[in-house]
Order: sequence, then structure tokens, then C-alpha cells
Amino acid sequence: MDETTVKIAGIVNESIVDGPGLRTTIFFQGCIHACDGCHNPDTWNLNGGIELTLTELIRKLRLNPLISGITYSGGEPFLQAEAAAKLGRFLTKLGLDLWIYTGYRWEELISQLDKPGISELLQIASVIVDGPFLKEQKTAALPFRGSANQRVILVAESLKSGTIIEWTPEAVIG
Ligand code: SF4
Repeated sequence: MDETTVKIAGIVNESIVDGPGLRTTIFFQGCIHACDGCHNPDTWNLNGGIELTLTELIRKLRLNPLISGITYSGGEPFLQAEAAAKLGRFLTKLGLDLWIYTGYRWEELISQLDKPGISELLQIASVIVDGPFLKEQKTAALPFRGSANQRVILVAESLKSGTIIEWTPEAVIG
């Protein structure tokens, strides 16, 4: 039993738009980025959403053999980095890969590695889709992102090389 709590806005148990393959998407509650044109403004309120223990949240996930990964979306998952990392450790140990959508740019995350949970969360994520949604750069042409400023970043490879290495549909993740 894990009594760590997390605030979520909702769960989509079978998604094909939040990363490759069939995925379970967890929408975290609370966001400070206030992007103009955000599709999920209901997730902004830091005091809103549903508060669950990690044990309760895990019980709500309908994981099955067809699910290839978990996606964190929001809201801003990095505002609850410690709980998100704890949950992610459990899920990645099941063999699921973890994608995270964040309104922070990669460089901002790297500058916050000393804050609780940030480094731990990056260590277990396969991919980060970074940066705010910018209405003037909105696009449907680029896979898995809402605006052209956002980057789909391979985390381990980028941390190791010290430079951003972007995911492509052919990229091997693991
Ligand atoms: S980071 Fe995401 S959830 Fe937050 S305001 Fe921007 S688009 Fe909306």
C-alpha cells in the first residue's frame, strides 16, 4: 500500500494520440503555464481534480497486455514530481515505457534537477514532449505535439550526451 497522494484530472485507459502504440494516459491536475488556447484549462486549478493515493490510482488503471506505455499529461506533471516519479517507478517496472508532456522547456527542467522528484522523474521517462502550447505555432502535421515549438525528446540519450536528441518514429526507445 502506498499512501502518497496525487491529484489527477482524469485517466484515459486506451489512447492512441499521446505517444506510440496503445497507451494509458494520466492527466495530472494543476498547471501554472496558462497557455493561450490550452485544450485542458479545467486542469489548471491547483486545488481542483481528484486526490487519490497511488494505491487507489493504480487500481483505476486498466492495464492489459495490449498497453505498451503510460503517458503523463495535464496539467503539469512536474508540479507533482515526487509522486509522479514514485508511480512511474512502479509502472516502468511492469515493462511499460513512460512519456511525459510538460509545459516546461527541457532546459528549464535540467536547471531544476535539485528540486524534489525532478531528477527521479527524468531518470525513468523514455520521452519528454516539452514546452508550452503556442497557438501561433499550432500544427497537426507533427506527430504527438500540439505546436511546432514543442520537441519530442529522448530522455536518457539527451541526458547522456548533454545535447537534445529528438525522437523520431524510427527511434528505438528503451
Ligand atoms: S502546459 Fe499544457 S495543460 Fe498547462 S496550460 Fe499549457 S497546454 Fe494547458
